Amino acid sequence: MSADDLLAALDAGHDARVDFLQRFARIDTANPPGDTTRAADLFRAFLDAEGIAHRTEAPLAHAPNLIATFEGGAGPGRHLVLNGHLDVFPIGDRASWARDPWSGDIADGRLHGRGTVDMKSGTTALLHVFAALHRLRAKLRGRVTLTVVSDEETGGKWGAAWLIENRPDEVLGDCVLNTEPSGLATVRFGEKCMLWLRFVIAVKGGHSAYPHTGQSANKVAAALIRDLQEIEAMVPDEPATVRATLDREEVRAAADLSLGAGAAGVMRRVSVNIGTIQGGVTINMLPPRCVLEVDCRLPVGIPRAAVLARATEIAARHPGTTFEEMLPGGPEATVSDPTHEMMGHLLRRAAHGQAKPPQPIVSLGGTDTRFWRARGVPAFVYGCSPAGMGGIDESVSLAEFDHVTRTHALAAWDYLTLV
Ligand SMILES: [Zn+2]
Repeated sequence: MSADDLLAALDAGHDARVDFLQRFARIDTANPPGDTTRAADLFRAFLDAEGIAHRTEAPLAHAPNLIATFEGGAGPGRHLVLNGHLDVFPIGDRASWARDPWSGDIADGRLHGRGTVDMKSGTTALLHVFAALHRLRAKLRGRVTLTVVSDEETGGKWGAAWLIENRPDEVLGDCVLNTEPSGLATVRFGEKCMLWLRFVIAVKGGHSAYPHTGQSANKVAAALIRDLQEIEAMVPDEPATVRATLDREEVRAAADLSLGAGAAGVMRRVSVNIGTIQGGVTINMLPPRCVLEVDCRLPVGIPRAAVLARATEIAARHPGTTFEEMLPGGPEATVSDPTHEMMGHLLRRAAHGQAKPPQPIVSLGGTDTRFWRARGVPAFVYGCSPAGMGGIDESVSLAEFDHVTRTHALAAWDYLTLV
């Protein structure tokens, strides 16, 4: 079925979309404190004006989540879920900003403000995609649900995770689209996870002049840090389609292009960052205690348990060394099938107007899509360039905002009409 009507609806809605984004950008949703009530009002007013029913779920009163859903008129089919978040990073040092962080100013084709990249432009895009699909619902099969959530920047417990836990029949769906900033060169089908470890080295210590009478926890830490690098050499056991996808030269090139040279390698191995070292009392004592905090990022195909087992082995080689997991029970790296039908729709539609076709990759950081993938629902991320995300003078390209809106609208259209 032709998507001409959809493209016409998107064209007609262009100015209203930019206007909406500007109004959204002017609302402070910095998290912490994460008060998104005024932003939720803006979204609800838009849905009301479109005649679309919606519901608010607010396990935390200041951090509401919105759900809206409709059935297509062309018969039963799949359930597509759109997901974006309202909250944004804090502004940091206000004095460093050239403009008011909540200005919504438009200059040189860019709309300015904290969170315009991550992810006010993306959430706005999905709201307007949802409304455009709703207008054409007579032609669609299945069902579409919009989830607009809070608490993303602080872990998602009261946002996406809460909805999935408490309203699974409404929000799990068969497939999820998300517009977190990915850069136009890549579509993300998985993401790494965090494993945080705290090592404590406790030894006898002593006087600097009498090293033969005690031990130095700092010297033990140095040897431990060297050995912990072994974790980076662990080989992931990736699903076959993931391996075949990530092995492709053009995929590796796109990862390096969008995430920085070297990213293609980092995407598929554990990274081990010795974030903090605290050891020693004075210069002339053998330090009796040293504490290391280590941030490991695990790729698809290396379970947390495997890294914990390796860390146990390594710690056992070093005197006085114990460790604990800082946030026990955290999620595994998550992945969807990169050959899933939706990936095909996104790649094909995203190629529009680009010199090189976009490529499927795994994200280095986290998004709310992990909660869906962890429940077995395929989830895909495509959004504007992450450059400037969370930084000073954040701004989004309006051309990219348009491209992302168009791409998701058409991919959703394909998914809801091609069966
Ligand atoms: Zn985000």
